[in-house]
Amino acid sequence: MKNEPKKYASRRREMVEKQIASRGVTDPLVLAAMNKVPRHLFVSEALVDSAYGDFPLPIGEGQTISQPYIIGEMTQSLALKGHERVLEIGTGSGYQAAVLSQIVYKVYTIERNNALFLQTRKLFDKLKFHNIVTRYSDGTQGWKQEGPFDAIIVTAGGQQIPSPLIEQLSIGGRLVIPVGDNFSQELIRLEKTEDNIKTTNLGACRFVKLIGQHGWNE
Ligand code: SAH
Repeated sequence: MKNEPKKYASRRREMVEKQIASRGVTDPLVLAAMNKVPRHLFVSEALVDSAYGDFPLPIGEGQTISQPYIIGEMTQSLALKGHERVLEIGTGSGYQAAVLSQIVYKVYTIERNNALFLQTRKLFDKLKFHNIVTRYSDGTQGWKQEGPFDAIIVTAGGQQIPSPLIEQLSIGGRLVIPVGDNFSQELIRLEKTEDNIKTTNLGACRFVKLIGQHGWNE
């Protein structure tokens, strides 16, 4: 980021080294992206000084921006190379989408909360994240007109993997989503091949609810 106070660049470097690389996120594309995106601009004014801490933060509307390490782990699990078109469900603050945008060709991101959708769309414009496309709708139904996607990331937790998302994943594509009940979930990575769907459990996590037709009721 041009014109930002120096302290933020060094806080970011420290975040990447101490919270992310040291815990096993090694993909250089992921580490470089997280070193670049100004996380402090994705939280409210009052939380700017906590933005690089090792914890999730509230972003308004009862929602949260994930702990930096979780963002690193989920992004790495998508095994991105750079040419991909990626779908994100749950735009929220926009931070996860911004990290993805530094790695891939194009990011499609869906948010169901109108206030967050409007606020974050404006922020992407202001910060010139031009390869992020936003949409206000129920992301559990995916984005059929733009699919199939090389990778899909869901940043809210459902009881199961929404079937439209599996349908809209290309052959060879990867999907990552927290699956579980109200209180705790497992981070599930799914890989789709010509004739098979393989899932792996990446471990326990806790996310806000995925609400929609193929998620929780309101
Ligand atoms: N990726 C975000 C995380 C935000 S929290 C970030 O980096 O900040 C999860 C978000 O998912 C919330 O904003 C919530 O409103 C949204 N959400 C929940 N269910 C959704 C659905 N069915 N479609 C789209 N967004 C949804």
